[in-house]
Amino acid sequence: MEKDTRRETLFANGKNGYDRLYDGQWDIIETYCAGYKAFLDDGKTERDCVAEAVFQAESHGFREYRPGTAVKAGDKLYITRMGKAAAFAVIGERPLSDGIRMVAAHIDSPRLDLKPNPLYEDGGLALLKTHYYGGVKKYQWLSLPLELRGVVCTASGGKISVSIGADENDPVLVITDLLPHLAAEQMKKSVTDAFKGEDLNALIGSRPDEAEGADRVKLAVMALLNEKYGITESDFVSSELCLVPAGCARDVGLDRAMIGAYGHDDRSCAYAALRAIFDCAAPAYTTVCFLADKEEIGSDGLTGMKSGFFDMFIESLCQGGGVSLRQCYANSFCLSGDVCNALDPNFAGVSDKLNAARAGNGVGIFKYTGSRGKYGASDASAETMGKLRALLDGSGVFWQAAELGKVDEGGGGTVAAYLAVRDIEVVDCGVPVFSMHAPFEIVSKLDCYMMYKASLAVYGDR
Ligand code: MN
Ligand code: MN
Repeated sequence: MEKDTRRETLFANGKNGYDRLYDGQWDIIETYCAGYKAFLDDGKTERDCVAEAVFQAESHGFREYRPGTAVKAGDKLYITRMGKAAAFAVIGERPLSDGIRMVAAHIDSPRLDLKPNPLYEDGGLALLKTHYYGGVKKYQWLSLPLELRGVVCTASGGKISVSIGADENDPVLVITDLLPHLAAEQMKKSVTDAFKGEDLNALIGSRPDEAEGADRVKLAVMALLNEKYGITESDFVSSELCLVPAGCARDVGLDRAMIGAYGHDDRSCAYAALRAIFDCAAPAYTTVCFLADKEEIGSDGLTGMKSGFFDMFIESLCQGGGVSLRQCYANSFCLSGDVCNALDPNFAGVSDKLNAARAGNGVGIFKYTGSRGKYGASDASAETMGKLRALLDGSGVFWQAAELGKVDEGGGGTVAAYLAVRDIEVVDCGVPVFSMHAPFEIVSKLDCYMMYKASLAVYGDR
């Protein structure tokens, strides 16, 4: 009797990613991920990421683009905005009227920003008031070593980079937590009520200045900041300083198949999009890697995906070829590279197992995101999904079709909707993540590499 092969031919391939690797591919993945981990350690804010991305781009032959200057096929360009958003492009053989091939990802991650007047003294301690940025579970930020990163702009026009806590010999900051012995009342509250955003005040000093008078600890801290950075308290108003988790990216698991770090959302996709544009030689279409800021707070703002910065860049390229921006957009294809939730056995109840992304099975592709009946989703067309599928399969990319959680369980959005509104064909695609938005998120190395391959596949469209 002949073997029944109908399951192989009729069912979707549900094979584990590891069983599909070819000989030697794991070594390629490890090498790729070593670069990614270094990027994570340097890039804890969008500014850090832009600086590192530009540094790497220049070493790959990219040069800063001046709007209005002529470009030709093969040119490698980049442009930045406020040092917080950036676009990288390789000019293709085809005219821009045929559209661009793009991967957009965001480089901002949830964190604790300092308030405009952050520094105060209470109970013999100097503290910094914060205002959280993005969707955080507040309790996760207590009892955790934190770095202070950002910039301070002075009234005299100077811009000072601040980084405290990155070096292992640096001091760190911390938000203290309540001891369980005295937490009886706190433990009765809901998590939302027990941890207030207003109470996320970080400890920055405890040793008073020798001078007499009020606020001696605050004075001592301000004197140290002044000594190191030349700043005074009034300079905080023109600063962007934030607290991010201290420490480096680490391998997770005895098999070292996963990476634990701050900011996989969405630097796993941003790094993939960036590395892939370095490696896309002589593309047919003009390829663009866009690294957006502000996604975690709705993509608004000068450096977010909704900003005219993106349009200005593409329009300027179009004008050189006498092409209308609208026509270029209408023929473009974009991957919205953003992470998704990995099916977590500890919290399996929030996911539909048939439609949940599994770590180690490749990138998740998402026809739609949104919540409550797809509200807020760009909801890609079947035709667009078909095109993506063909591109990914043609390049040996492991992928899985998924949704973010059960129906009505919650949801989320990405930059996809803000590309679709411009008439750009777009699909969400990203790396599955455990503990998304936590100070220490987990991803599979295999999936990170597959996001790089997926980006390469889009850039390589003929
Ligand atoms: Mn994201
Ligand atoms: Mn996010």
